[in-house]
Amino acid sequence: MPELPEVETVRRGLQSQTTGRTLEGGEVLLKRSLAYPLSVEQFSPWLAGDGIQAWQRRGKYLLAQLASGGWLGVHLRMTGQLFWVQRTEPLEKHTRIRLFFDQGQELRFVDSRTFGQVWLVPPGVPRESIITGLTRLGPEPFDPEFTPAYLQSRLQKTQRTIKAALLDQGIVAGLGNIYVDEVCFASGVRPEAIAAHLTLVQITKIHGQILAVLEEAIAHGGTTFSDFLNLLGVPGNYGDRAQVYGRRGQPCRVCGTAIERIKITGRSSHFCPQCQI
Ligand SMILES: [Zn+2]
Repeated sequence: MPELPEVETVRRGLQSQTTGRTLEGGEVLLKRSLAYPLSVEQFSPWLAGDGIQAWQRRGKYLLAQLASGGWLGVHLRMTGQLFWVQRTEPLEKHTRIRLFFDQGQELRFVDSRTFGQVWLVPPGVPRESIITGLTRLGPEPFDPEFTPAYLQSRLQKTQRTIKAALLDQGIVAGLGNIYVDEVCFASGVRPEAIAAHLTLVQITKIHGQILAVLEEAIAHGGTTFSDFLNLLGVPGNYGDRAQVYGRRGQPCRVCGTAIERIKITGRSSHFCPQCQI
C-alpha cells in the first residue's frame, strides 16, 4: 500500500508533468472507482476545458487544484497507480479511469483491487464536504504543529500499541505499515509497546525518526515494496534500505540478530529483538 513517501513521489511527478495543462475530458471504465460525481455521465463534461493549477498532498490523498476552482482528488488505497502516458498506448489490464489532456496525453488510473477512489469536486463546494476522509486526518508530519509535545499528548491517552497509534491517520497523517516498522526500529522501541507507557525521551526520538525516515524515503523516490511505480512507471529504490520491513529471519543491519515478525492488530510487524526494547 502506498504511504506518504510514495504518494509524495507521485505528487511531484504530477506537479511537473501536468501543471498548466488543459483537460479535454475523461472516461470511467469502472463505476466504483469514481466516488464523485455519483453519475459517471457527468465526469467527462465536468472535466472538459478545465486545467491543472497545482497538486497538493494531504496524508495519502492527492489533490489537484483546478482552474475552475474545483478539485480533483485521488486516493490510491492498496493497489491504485497513476500513469502519465500517450493516449494511444494500449490500456493496462486494470485501467479504471482515464483523464484526457491536451497534446494527446493521458493520466491513467489503474487499480487491480479497486479500493482506490477518484473525486471531482465542483467549484464553490468545500472539498472536505465531498472528500470526507480529509476531515479525519491529523497533522502532516512536516507541519510545524506536529511536535514532540503534540505527539506525547496524543500517545499518553491511548492504551493501544505504538504501532496501532502511528497507523492512526487521525494522530499523524501518511504513515503505513512499512514506515511505522522502520520508525520503531530507528527509535529503539518495540512496535507492540503500549503508547501511553512511552517516556518523553522515547516519544521525542519517535517524532524525530518519523521525519528522518520519511525524508530519506522521499529522497529515494519511495519504496519498491507493494510493487510501487512512479508516474512514469519507474520503481522507487527505498526498499533495499529498509532496516526491518520485509526482512524476517535476516540479520539485523546493526547487531546481526535475526529480524522477527509478529502480528499486531492484524498487521505484520517487523522488529529486531536486540535493538528494540
Ligand atoms: Zn539489531
